[in-house]
Order: sequence, then structure tokens, then C-alpha cells
Amino acid sequence: MTDGGPPPRFVADHMLGSLARWLRMMGYDTVYDKALDDPGISKLARAENRFILTRDKELGKEPGSLLIEKDDLESQLRATAQRYGLRFDENRIRCSACNGDLVDLPKEEAKGKVPDGALAANQKFWRCSRCGKLYWKGTHWNGIMDRLRKLSLV
Ligand SMILES: [Zn+2]
Repeated sequence: MTDGGPPPRFVADHMLGSLARWLRMMGYDTVYDKALDDPGISKLARAENRFILTRDKELGKEPGSLLIEKDDLESQLRATAQRYGLRFDENRIRCSACNGDLVDLPKEEAKGKVPDGALAANQKFWRCSRCGKLYWKGTHWNGIMDRLRKLSLV
């Protein structure tokens, strides 16, 4: 769903680490920092125009925030996607570990840094600009895509 505006950005509370990782993989800038307390989350949300995703009723009252009521990841993803109109975008995938931007890594540079099987089977590799983690479309990727497809988020 695109309305021409920039994609929404999020800050997830300390209960929502899995949701944060999945939103990053879908292409959404999502801060998840266990060091942030509730006032810290509110402050960051205002300063950076982020929507708050939270399991906390009080934080859930902040403008634009979403109170996540369910425990399971798929329900959480579905609720978040419906509320903000989210869809997977391969061109915007972010690092699931740190929320950094992924940059293209030429295949010749991936050599020796990824397993030989992955190198042989793929043409496209990415590197996190922040933490350096490498990504490619392997078995793990297919599992992620299957799950997103099941939720109609692809
Ligand atoms: Zn990273």
C-alpha cells in the first residue's frame, strides 16, 4: 500500500523484539532498544516521528501508537500491517539484528565471507551498513517469505 508518503517508522517496546525484527525484514525502520524506558520511547517517537508499538496500556495511549494485545508473532504482525498498511518491500529490507540499511555486496566481495554453497546459488548479496552482517536469499529467506505470504504481506 503506497500513498506517496514516506514509509512509517516505528519504535517497539522491550516486549516486542520479534515483531521489531520482522518489521525490519519487511523493510520498515524499527527501533528496538531494551535500554529505552517508557518515557524514553515516547521521547524518541516524538523526536523522530515514529509510531509506538507497545504491549503497555499507557504507552498505547500515545497518538498514533498501536497497543499490541496478542502474544503470538503472526497476530502481532497482522495487526501492525493492517493498522499502518504495511507490505514487504525487497528494496527496503533492513538488518534484522540492528535496523541498519543493507547495501549491495558484489558477488566477488562475498567470496570467502559466505558459505560456498550460498555463493554458488546466489547472485545477490547484501551487507548491513551498520553491523556488517551479510544477507542472501538462502533457506532462511525462503522460510521468511513463506510466512509473510501466509499472512498476505508479500
Ligand atoms: Zn546490522
